[in-house]
Amino acid sequence: MASNFLTGRDYLRKKKFREKKKLISVALGFPDLVFAVGAVPVFPIRMETFDFSRYLTPITSATSVLGWDLTSKFLDFARQFDVLKIVDKILEDVITSINSKYNEMYELGVNNGVPSELCYGINALYGMHKSKGKNVDANLNFAMRCGRWNKFYESLKTIVPRQILIDVPPKTSYNENEALKQMVDNIKTGISELENITGNFVSDNSLQKQFRIGNQVKRFYKTILYEIGGSDFYPCNPATFSEILALLTITFQDYNSNAQRYLENLSQLVKEMRERIRKGIGMDVYKMPRLLFAPMYQGWEPEIHEIIYNLGGRVIYADWDVLGFLEEISISNHSDPIEEYARFLLNASAKGIGCNDENMTSSYLAVAENMDIDGLIFNQVFGCPSISKTYDKLKEKLKSELDIPAIVINFKKIGENIEQVKTRVEPFMDRLKNIE
Ligand code: SF4
Repeated sequence: MASNFLTGRDYLRKKKFREKKKLISVALGFPDLVFAVGAVPVFPIRMETFDFSRYLTPITSATSVLGWDLTSKFLDFARQFDVLKIVDKILEDVITSINSKYNEMYELGVNNGVPSELCYGINALYGMHKSKGKNVDANLNFAMRCGRWNKFYESLKTIVPRQILIDVPPKTSYNENEALKQMVDNIKTGISELENITGNFVSDNSLQKQFRIGNQVKRFYKTILYEIGGSDFYPCNPATFSEILALLTITFQDYNSNAQRYLENLSQLVKEMRERIRKGIGMDVYKMPRLLFAPMYQGWEPEIHEIIYNLGGRVIYADWDVLGFLEEISISNHSDPIEEYARFLLNASAKGIGCNDENMTSSYLAVAENMDIDGLIFNQVFGCPSISKTYDKLKEKLKSELDIPAIVINFKKIGENIEQVKTRVEPFMDRLKNIE
């Protein structure tokens, strides 16, 4: 999965130039319509060239010579000796490489017209388009109820002229049926635009095929979050487990541009994790407090999971679950796939991306309860007036309803605030360990 992420540039070139596929840039959890129309969704940072780790380079070369099957077999063999070190090192290098690219994209955004007081995620996304946006045929955007996100969308038009905007109506200003009808119409308009760009036709079958793959992806994702993440024994050390969750958060946005391959990677990952737990390979984490760290998809300090691990805890990243993107889309012979997709989007909007603090607080509470976490670290993203204002109410409700403590840390740019983060989380971890 890491290799597919980092080698995206070559893969996308092949799709664009050899196979004449259209590339559509996406963000958040919205690649389905692009797959269904036979185009290639791309979270634009994947068009960049990444620094390859000294561990990943030989594996990637081996893949091109041996094919992935034989490489996996070889890795299986190598694992008997020192798997944890190999996996730890690879993931650490991959996440470092992705994050330094994120910072580069953020700087590009700030230096090219996006006011730096906007959130990190918006600046980075703008930078990604500034850098490689000329390679995409269109951008697919779902209008959220965040004024800053919508302002960003306006500014993108100068880089990617072809914009497909699907508005998600707020449930509050419509009754439910009207909102659903409006949502269905908006999706249909978006699909027509995608059909015009690609010259392909979206059928009920192509939508259902994509939703079926997406549903399986979501099931595996939830298995990792709930079954493995909730287990007392981890298949790797908790910092590596957090890195896997971080990688999932980033790659879920475009399924690494290949839905079937992404599904197979996830299936393999779950199989391996279960196998390692069954064989007792990994780490006993029973006594380590489990912390939900959120939100992180619009920028976060990745050092946090290492810091918490060194302090005796473990971090879970579960943004897409909190925001409702891991809900399955109903598929049956009698249902209309566009209507089902509309329901999915309206629910996701009501859970979080609609930026309503009541709803968002409820989503956090539900996930905190389902995951039975020991504490929450709230990531206050600089320049975000929407999600950030949720914290006070959330902290109060977590305490009064679930007796779960919370702290807030501030984030502006990766690597900028590490010492302060340490100072904030140390006493919090001490407190949690004493409660244990
Ligand atoms: S809600 Fe906050 S974090 Fe999300 S896009 Fe808007 S400003 Fe950025």
